[in-house]
Amino acid sequence: MIVIFLGPPGAGKGTQCKFIVDTYGLKHLSSGDILRRERSEGTDLGKEAQGYMDSGKLVPDDLIVAMMMKEIAACGDLSGFVFDGFPRTIGQAKELDKAMAQAGKKIDVVLNLQVDDSLLEERVCGRRSCLKCGAAYHVKYMAPKVAEQCDNGCGKLSQRADDTAETVKNRIAAYHAQTAPLVEYYNEQGNVKSVNGNVAIDLVTTSLKSVLDEVKARIK
Ligand SMILES: [Zn+2]
Repeated sequence: MIVIFLGPPGAGKGTQCKFIVDTYGLKHLSSGDILRRERSEGTDLGKEAQGYMDSGKLVPDDLIVAMMMKEIAACGDLSGFVFDGFPRTIGQAKELDKAMAQAGKKIDVVLNLQVDDSLLEERVCGRRSCLKCGAAYHVKYMAPKVAEQCDNGCGKLSQRADDTAETVKNRIAAYHAQTAPLVEYYNEQGNVKSVNGNVAIDLVTTSLKSVLDEVKARIK
C-alpha cells in the first residue's frame, strides 16, 4: 500500500503517521529527512542537491523524486510506504507518477487531513515545551499544573519562536496555497480521501483506519 499523507501544520500528522506506520507495517518516507541524510552522507544525489542549495536554488523536483525512489528501491519487499511532506508541488507529483509507473508501482490513496484554520492556530499557538526535560504541554489540551511552569520542577516552559499567531497564520496560508493544487491533481485521478481532523486524536485515528482498511482490502 502506497499512501500520500497531506495535512496542515498543527493537524497532528506526526502522531497519525506513526499510527499508520505501526498498524500497517509501512515505511515512513519524509522528503526533508531523506534530503538531510543524503547530504550528510555525501551521496551523489546528496552532493547534487547540496550544489543547488549552496547557490541559493531550490532542489529540482526530479532530484527530490530520485531520492525518494532510491529509498523505495532500497526497501525491497516492504508492504508499502507513507509519503510525509511529499510531494510538495505539482512538478514533484508528476515526476513521482512517472517514476512510480517505471517502477511498476502506483499510489493507492492520498489522505487529506482537514482541520479548520482557527483550530490549527489554537493548537499550534498553545504548544509549550520544557527545554530541560523535554516534556511537552499545551496551554489548553495538556496544561501544566502551574501555568507556564514545568510539572517536573524545571522552571519556565518555552514556546517555539515560529509558533506565534502571525507565523502560524502564514504557515497555514502557505500550506493551503501549496496543497490545494495537489489535492485537485490527485482528485482528477480519483484517489483522494478527506479525513476530518477537527475531532479528538483517537477519532481521527479511527477514520484513518477505516479508510486504509478499505484501501487495503481493495488492492489485495
Ligand atoms: Zn521539565
